Amino acid sequence: MPKIERWIIDKVLDATSIVEVISDFVELRKAGVNYTGCCPFHDDHHDGNFIVRPEGVKSGGGTYRCFVCDAKGGVVQFLMNHEHMTFPDAIRWLGKKYSIEVDNAPVDYIPPQTRPKPEPLPMLSIPREIVRKSMRYIQRDRFCNWLRHLPWSTSAERERIEKVLWMYCLGHWKDGRVIFWQIDETGNGRSGKLMRYLSDGHRDTRRFDLEL
Ligand SMILES: [Zn+2]
Repeated sequence: MPKIERWIIDKVLDATSIVEVISDFVELRKAGVNYTGCCPFHDDHHDGNFIVRPEGVKSGGGTYRCFVCDAKGGVVQFLMNHEHMTFPDAIRWLGKKYSIEVDNAPVDYIPPQTRPKPEPLPMLSIPREIVRKSMRYIQRDRFCNWLRHLPWSTSAERERIEKVLWMYCLGHWKDGRVIFWQIDETGNGRSGKLMRYLSDGHRDTRRFDLEL
């Protein structure tokens, strides 16, 4: 069997839906944005342990996971683990399912570097009111207070810190973390990075559950 070229693997995965594939082997039920069913990797009688998440970073993405036996992976891993296929055979199986030639691929393909760029994803826009509101609570922020109380040599220097905090649009999240906003030219947020600090100005890198 010839080696499967990367662009064919991408083409096959682009056409693949993990929910459709796993549904060929497991009865899945929609649960919100995910799907659940009985886990095929252990003796499962409880629909709900096995979760399929259709969303993924890329097409052909999406994951499955069992919260009892910890089976997990993407669509190719599912075929490899459940059907004991090799990686190339899993791609061939998907190619057959989605009517894509894998081993006799047409030669007149467009090389990846000349393929049209996919439409960019719509940009996330965080209303400036939310950004401004988070900045209003900066007085009570631990990291910003640490900055304010550094041994500045003049009061002008100390005052400058307020301007810097404002210019960087630092916000204060309700759980005590600082928000480093990314702001676009219209004043709306594009994203924000949340970081927790100790009162000595060091990052608190312990893990916390995300509370939104
Ligand atoms: Zn399981």
